[in-house]
Amino acid sequence: MSSESPITSKSAGRFGSPFNINSDANVSYSSESFEAWKPAKAYTSSGRMGPAAPWFLALMTVVSSLISMVIYHYILNLLNIFLITPIIGGLIVGLLVAIAVKPGHCRRFKFAAACGAIGGVLTYGGDLVLDTIDQRPIIVQRAVSLLSIDQNVPIADATQVIEQYLTPLTTFKVVMQSRADAGVSIVSQSGSNASGIPIRGMLFYVLMVVEIVLVAGSAAGIAGAAAASRYCEDCGCWHRSQVAFKVSELSSKNLLGAIETHEWDRAAAIASNEKVKTAKSWCTVSVERCPRCHDGLIRASQTEGKEVTSLYSRFLPAKDVEQLLALGRLKN
Ligand SMILES: [Zn+2]
Repeated sequence: MSSESPITSKSAGRFGSPFNINSDANVSYSSESFEAWKPAKAYTSSGRMGPAAPWFLALMTVVSSLISMVIYHYILNLLNIFLITPIIGGLIVGLLVAIAVKPGHCRRFKFAAACGAIGGVLTYGGDLVLDTIDQRPIIVQRAVSLLSIDQNVPIADATQVIEQYLTPLTTFKVVMQSRADAGVSIVSQSGSNASGIPIRGMLFYVLMVVEIVLVAGSAAGIAGAAAASRYCEDCGCWHRSQVAFKVSELSSKNLLGAIETHEWDRAAAIASNEKVKTAKSWCTVSVERCPRCHDGLIRASQTEGKEVTSLYSRFLPAKDVEQLLALGRLKN
């Protein structure tokens, strides 16, 4: 950290401040830095994967589905937000599959996306199976009372008949049928007096297909994205992303100016004087790199409220990564 840096107090970082000597006009670009700031090359994954990846991913898809179907059944169903619940369910299983994509070194987008989609369908199906298991005692009880009262059949006999009739598949069909008959009502969360239009019969099954597509689609997207993320084929490892700098909007021009000229000491000094937590908008500079050969790129983005705007994504030379490591702005 250079103590002679002019940017040591917060006020010096303000735009238009008389102390701000680092406006664009004063930034000098060396020919070297021009050469170094090549825009990041578009990345396309190699489509390769480790020899054990297919089996590992298949196994982890099943494990992920089991975990997410329990979450879906016992937690997400309580929220029950129209069309949102299946997307959240899909994101959960997709994330679990995505975690397995990394140690499996799977760079094949289609394979990872397919695993995610299968995980999504298994999650949704698993929730229906758990529903069926929950509903069975109620169905048995109702059917037994109908048989014994209406048809005058002794309870023990009626129970035996019903238990025999209700195989897992029949129970599932009965549960689905009764759900389709009862229908689903979409009610707004605030309006308690609004009854909503129930979705019944065929429409109920159409809604189910839509939900399955949402679960599978969101899971496939997340798992596929993990396989398509940057990977160093030379070193055999995934790129890692770390935030190197985060400053409030007031200092962002100064910071970006320092980065532009590769003055990492100055950039670090600007960032270390920042309290971003109280800022409404800020600038984030992150470095994505191979943890071994330091082949990397630098990204800058501006966040304003919920809106994130990407400023640039450029190739970052290994010597710059090493300087950032030495300054403690990146961790090994
Ligand atoms: Zn590498």
